[in-house]
Amino acid sequence: MSNLPKIAWIGLGIMGSPMAENLLKAGYQVTGFTLEQDKLDRLAAAGGAAAGSIAEAVEDADVVITMVPASPQVEAIAYGENGILENAKSGALIVDMSSITPQTSIDLAKNAAEKGIRVIDAPVSGGEAGAIEAVLSIMVGGEQADFDEALPILEALGKTIVLCGPHGSGQTVKAANQLIVAVNIQACAEAVVFLEKSGVNLQAALDVLNGGLAGSTVLTRKKDNFLNRDFKPGFRIDLHHKDMGIVTDAARNVGAALPVGAVVAQLVASLRAQGDGGLDHSALLRAVERLSGAQI
Ligand code: NAD
Repeated sequence: MSNLPKIAWIGLGIMGSPMAENLLKAGYQVTGFTLEQDKLDRLAAAGGAAAGSIAEAVEDADVVITMVPASPQVEAIAYGENGILENAKSGALIVDMSSITPQTSIDLAKNAAEKGIRVIDAPVSGGEAGAIEAVLSIMVGGEQADFDEALPILEALGKTIVLCGPHGSGQTVKAANQLIVAVNIQACAEAVVFLEKSGVNLQAALDVLNGGLAGSTVLTRKKDNFLNRDFKPGFRIDLHHKDMGIVTDAARNVGAALPVGAVVAQLVASLRAQGDGGLDHSALLRAVERLSGAQI
């Protein structure tokens, strides 16, 4: 029998599935629950155990990892009769890796503490590719001792893992991350339309741009999406819309102005309103193309 902590994994989507598989590869025992049967089958095929409910997944777990879309889903899986807090062992550690509002993380930590359950917020950056390659950046909020306990697990999922401060801090840093990524994608999308309309070879232009100060992880990871107009997610516009809401709200609360972020948040919202919410966030290119006269 392994001495490694037993893991429950709730939320096996685009990110959760490959992340849970990386824990299996690292030798952890993982019991998972998610809403789609095919994702449960995928976990079982990779050597994990598929549970029939959240309660069944978490009852024996030392560490419960959650990776669901947004605050309402985190609240749904945490609270209530069939939720994590009612069914996990006292002393268990919840590692919530979803991107949610900092306040939801603070409230969850407080409510869990009443049941003797500890929580850290540990949202990630790096996208689906980063999840598959186990090179995510993981920004953590919570107590040092809980961070130290989770670190070996997080090291099987990511490369840059930093405790940013008390509960909610990981989410605040993730909100800043999403601001930077959205503005960067928007700038790249505007450059793509400008370059194409100017008749420059786009592949050549993006290659040389990425070697200079304009280069970025966004350009490296999304270049082919732009070149091939391949907007299969990846990271859905719907989720980035949620994140732009989180960052604009959190910034307003502390009196920080985000003038460019606010414009990009509107462009993301507009793309979603035009029916593109299920596409990858590199589809911001479609919004710029429409603004530049294309019929898409
Ligand atoms: P996704 O929609 O692909 O997966 C979400 C999963 O949560 C689904 O499998 C769904 O079954 C599960 N879920 C929802 N409600 C549930 C419930 N009540 N009980 C059990 N399972 C439930 O989303 P994703 O792209 O994997 O993103 C997950 C989180 O990670 C989001 O907060 C997102 O913002 C963040 N994130 C995503 C990326 C990315 O590139 N996709 C990158 C960084 C961070």
